[in-house]
Amino acid sequence: MASEFVKIKCADCGNEQIVFSKPATTVTCTVCGATLVKSTGGKGDIKGEVLEVLN
Ligand SMILES: [Zn+2]
Repeated sequence: MASEFVKIKCADCGNEQIVFSKPATTVTCTVCGATLVKSTGGKGDIKGEVLEVLN
């Protein structure tokens, strides 16, 4: 499957942010700093709520 971007809602503050689903480094919320996607070396471990998958 091709790499994709997803829209995630931060579980802590409700901020909606578009992030890469397979990040090389951990992605954090730009508002509160909570972890949104944890880097695993493959498909990221998504911590927030996925609202939308963008292709
Ligand atoms: Zn947040």
